[in-house]
Amino acid sequence: NAKSQYSGVAIYSPEIDPHSPKRFSLMSDLRRAIREDELMMHFQPKVELHTGRLHGFEALLRWNHPTLGFVPPGDFIPMAEATDIIHPLTEWVLEASIRQCRQWHQQRFYVSVAVNLSTRNLMDERLPKKLADLLTKNDLPASALELEITESAIMEDPERALLLLQQISDLGIKLSIDDFGTGYSSLAYLKRLPVQALKIDYSFVRLLLEDKQDEVIVRSTVNLGHNLGLHVVAEGVEDQPTLDCLIDMGCNQAQGYFLGRPMPPSAVPEWYASAPW
Ligand code: C2E
Ligand code: CA
Ligand code: CA
Ligand code: CA
Repeated sequence: NAKSQYSGVAIYSPEIDPHSPKRFSLMSDLRRAIREDELMMHFQPKVELHTGRLHGFEALLRWNHPTLGFVPPGDFIPMAEATDIIHPLTEWVLEASIRQCRQWHQQRFYVSVAVNLSTRNLMDERLPKKLADLLTKNDLPASALELEITESAIMEDPERALLLLQQISDLGIKLSIDDFGTGYSSLAYLKRLPVQALKIDYSFVRLLLEDKQDEVIVRSTVNLGHNLGLHVVAEGVEDQPTLDCLIDMGCNQAQGYFLGRPMPPSAVPEWYASAPW
């Protein structure tokens, strides 16, 4: 399934030959995009289920390509990860997200922003220093920044990831494990990781009410997380009954189209004004 499921344009998956011309051209386009304002962040609300209040936003990268149009992140981030482009790309994402968060704080809208990291970012020993510098430069408290890291990224080299995540956590930045349950995770590492939250992947939440096995997985993950002293966040909540079920299970936060779609910052005030709080 090499073609994008969303965009209808033929963008190819990372399994394709790394020297193929198509891939080369998309990656050189991406270098230009980083320089020339074709990228932007959208923000999707994360809601506290006990209080119904807004917790913060997940920052999701968007690329408006001049000829291909909107290219979804799943179509270019894996390729960027296979090259060094992932480093300037992540720096762009961090800077844009931190700047937006600071702007919200200046408007007395005290939300947090969660940025996704890639596997290769966890191999970058300079990352803690880069994060500290970006926070200082933009005058944002570390507690307003969260990072989401997939368990597969951690398990790539767990001892190394552990050291790096400890340094990041020492800065006061909060960490979550993303796509929990979809990769190989080791509970032994989970116990040692300095993370605050587990995020249950959309693939388990989607059929929560129809599939008994998904229900068992979600319920067990909520309990596992709580027993380890972690918060549990569900992504991909698309309707009220699913939300009610998650509240019932004691899940701490949720995210999904039912609560709010990823949106440009300009759409946030209207969304916030119409939300039920
Ligand atoms: P993710 O971190 O698991 O992000 C959640 C994805 O689910 C997002 O897709 C979001 O738009 C989508 N989503 C949210 N609510 C719902 C819902 O109710 N129903 C459905 N069907 N989908 C929902 P998106 O924005 O296309 O991002 C896809 C993946 O690309 C992300 O998965 C993340 O792994 C990666 N990604 C996005 N932005 C960045 C970034 O800035 N840096 C890195 N390294 N990865 C990113
Ligand atoms: Ca995420
Ligand atoms: Ca992910
Ligand atoms: Ca996910």
